[in-house]
Amino acid sequence: MPENSVEVISTVPSKAPDRSIKYVLKTSDRATFEAVQLWEGEHGAYSVCMSAQAGCRQGCTHCATTFAATPFVRNLSAEELTSAVEHLQEGVRSQQGPLVWVDFAGVGEASANWAHVTTAARTIVGRELAQQVKVTSIAPHAWVRSLLKPNSWLPDRLMFSLHGANLAQRRMIIPRADDPSTVLPLWAAVAEMRPVVLNYVLCEHNTRPEDEAALTELLAPYAGRFPILRLSSFNPVQGSPLRPSVREEEFIAALTRDLDGWTVSHHLSHGRETAAACGQLRAQILDLPTPSRRPGL
Ligand code: SF4
Repeated sequence: MPENSVEVISTVPSKAPDRSIKYVLKTSDRATFEAVQLWEGEHGAYSVCMSAQAGCRQGCTHCATTFAATPFVRNLSAEELTSAVEHLQEGVRSQQGPLVWVDFAGVGEASANWAHVTTAARTIVGRELAQQVKVTSIAPHAWVRSLLKPNSWLPDRLMFSLHGANLAQRRMIIPRADDPSTVLPLWAAVAEMRPVVLNYVLCEHNTRPEDEAALTELLAPYAGRFPILRLSSFNPVQGSPLRPSVREEEFIAALTRDLDGWTVSHHLSHGRETAAACGQLRAQILDLPTPSRRPGL
């Protein structure tokens, strides 16, 4: 297998009516990563959720990658990222042409492999493999500041992971997270240039009555700056110390009522049945020997 090429080693189609197909791919040095082809009903076309790295170093406690036998292998090169998108796009080309978008929201943290992700993103759009590129990130200070520099490349849309109304709460899920009160002004500055959705995973520890008030107070000054606050049900993964919230409905209702000027949406994960959570498929399927590290990645 030539260097920088990738091949599909496993595909898992979802049960009807969900038309998504999950792929595990392998690089020439046997690093593995996931991509998911997702049916976007309102567009009548497929998108792709793409990994940015083979594994991840962030250690998020809601994520199957953290608890996999090999949590992190290496960054994926721009050519590997592009090659993976090409594989998936080939399968749908006759039906629809370009993917509606490629979202770097799979395994790995896009901001930690940013040079390769941006090069791949430009190629993906330039070669009309996809119409748009989105990025999901824990959005650390330093990376967000780099996005705000003049002439920085920006994806078409972004989603930033909040997951807590204060630093301690956020770090229960993202161990290296920045303080939300200091990073939110930077996120809001990015949101002036591109739409930025805020994601908040609903767990037992961050959906108590006092968390409703704390999150409302944190976000109230940003009304109208971000298009959506997306509340996501927690998809339990093996090894995670987190527990799903027993008061999701009350929490969602309170935020919807109290956050003036915000659109609050609820994303119900289908991953509990289908192993769709970030890194879950890779963690379950892979028993390949650990690859050797490639220089520079
Ligand atoms: S949620 Fe994303 S950033 Fe966090 S450990 Fe999983 S892959 Fe990495």
